[in-house]
Amino acid sequence: MAIRILPTSTVNRIAAGEVIERPASALKEIVENSLDAEAGVIEITIENGGRNLISITDNGTGMTKEELEMAVERHTTSKLPDDDLLNIDHFGFRGEALPSIGSVGRLSITSKHKNSDTCWKVSVEGGKKSRLSPAAIESGTKVELKDLFYATPARLKFLKSERTEQQQSVDVINRLAMAHPDVSFSLMADGRKVVNLSAEQGNFFDARLNRLSAIMGKDFAENALKIDAQRGNVKITGYAAVPTFNRGTSSAQYLFVNNRPIKDRLVLGAVRGAYQDFLARNRHPVLALFIELPSEEVDVNVHPAKAEVRFRDSGQVRGLIVGSLKNALAEAGHRASSTVSQSALGSFVPRSAPFSGYRSGGSYNSGLAEKSEFSTFINSSPVKELFEQNDITPFAKVPDEEIEQDLLEYPLGAARCQLHETYVVAQTKDSIVIVDQHAAHERLVYERMKKEIEKGGVKTQKLLIPEVVEMSEADVSRLCEKKEELEKMGLVIEQFGEKAVVVNEFPSLLDKTNITRLIKDLADDINDFGETLSFSEALEHVCGTMACHGSVRAGRKLNVHEMNSLLREMEATSHSGQCNHGRPTYVELKLSEVEKLFGRR
Ligand code: ADP
Ligand code: MG
Repeated sequence: MAIRILPTSTVNRIAAGEVIERPASALKEIVENSLDAEAGVIEITIENGGRNLISITDNGTGMTKEELEMAVERHTTSKLPDDDLLNIDHFGFRGEALPSIGSVGRLSITSKHKNSDTCWKVSVEGGKKSRLSPAAIESGTKVELKDLFYATPARLKFLKSERTEQQQSVDVINRLAMAHPDVSFSLMADGRKVVNLSAEQGNFFDARLNRLSAIMGKDFAENALKIDAQRGNVKITGYAAVPTFNRGTSSAQYLFVNNRPIKDRLVLGAVRGAYQDFLARNRHPVLALFIELPSEEVDVNVHPAKAEVRFRDSGQVRGLIVGSLKNALAEAGHRASSTVSQSALGSFVPRSAPFSGYRSGGSYNSGLAEKSEFSTFINSSPVKELFEQNDITPFAKVPDEEIEQDLLEYPLGAARCQLHETYVVAQTKDSIVIVDQHAAHERLVYERMKKEIEKGGVKTQKLLIPEVVEMSEADVSRLCEKKEELEKMGLVIEQFGEKAVVVNEFPSLLDKTNITRLIKDLADDINDFGETLSFSEALEHVCGTMACHGSVRAGRKLNVHEMNSLLREMEATSHSGQCNHGRPTYVELKLSEVEKLFGRR
């Protein structure tokens, strides 16, 4: 294939746009060129998050002197032989990456074509092209980019910390590497090897799974279900983890269309749909899905960075994704089907309306303080302590004669028993109330934390032995960037080396046994929401995560005192009718409805 200038008509069809917004986007374009050139080994070096240096060596086909000369011109490409934008099988086709990069940084390319004895070098600095000079490399192509954005300093202001930028580059490489298990990739960042993936051999599925597990972790491979399905001319393969292997962020969902990494709403939505019945709304599946379809069935030229795509028949693609995932999950024995009779369930009314105008009185004689508002009772007896009173023997059932009649007057009634160590069953004058103790308690902790933050300070507890939580560098830097905000929420953390944070203080409301998990989930939250939500929204979300970890778990035995306290506190707390994940915290079944169920009415 000869390199040549595209006709203007084609050029005009290629939407204009900025391709290079950060070091990782330059890196992506250059590595994609190496993959297009059929490289088997790609070695990358970056410095200062890619700002000072990005250097890439490949062992691909290389370029002749003439090709090298043209490669850095605008809209020159070897990859669109028929000018057919509907038929694209390479990463590149826009022919604008190299000239764009050369216009904002100091770019030099050294290349030796595989059929040529000579090797040449060209540089482009701030858009100015040098004359070609002879050079020496053994084979392939070496691209060096120094001082990115030196020519457009305004761009520099938009860059994040070096560490974040570096992490973006690692992510770019990981995604490309997942789609090319037979290519070996390495990345040195400031002298440290941060990516080291050797070429995988063996059959297609094994090679891919090995590559995925090298990137996503061994435990992913152990928990992954193989996906292999076809409908019409659309094919979908890959691996999806069982629902219990989930994460607090959608960032572990790797999606590819014709081996091109994408982040597409339609596909993400289909994945969410397939897992919907199996996961709480704030948990996300972990998977790598490869969709293949004839290139004329998909438009990749929607976006200069080519991250979004348009399918000609999106319904078919969506259907196949949902169907193949659901099948795999069903085969794994994780059925969504509920054994509860739908008709009976229909009679239970999830309550989420507030107890309007209700003020619980002081008649509950268990020594609780007057409770006029959310805060009163809870202040005299923190939620946490409420569940730590060990002096009362737990018993899960209140006999008829021991019911305190007054309690029947309360909206949520008198606790009668706890079932399955998860549900508190209570009785009012005319109904049966079933409370999900975890969901309810979580809501209470959450509301309490919000109040404390509003009042200007969350009560914290110092850890005698600070807890060290290990996590990825990316997570560490994300968390540490939000250090001050977290402090306002009662979580005092400190960076601890490259790959850990140490927790010094945490909110008194929470239970310290879950700290590691909490910190990891918070990092995920910040990844998902940190940049898109306003501070107050992010705060709510983080509070929610904390509350979830601070809450009495399903499976915990409660005594009658604890059960009644829980009910009273729910009555006094706004929004207590639903948990932070939007599920109801309790349902109420009116006696009249029970009678209907049994045909008495
Ligand atoms: P595109 O990839 O869209 O064609 P680029 O500006 O990225 O546009 O690259 C222009 C041309 O330079 C490519 O079409 C290809 O012929 C050549 N080229 C770039 N990088 C390499 C490489 N690493 N090995 C061989 N050829 C390359
Ligand atoms: Mg390219």
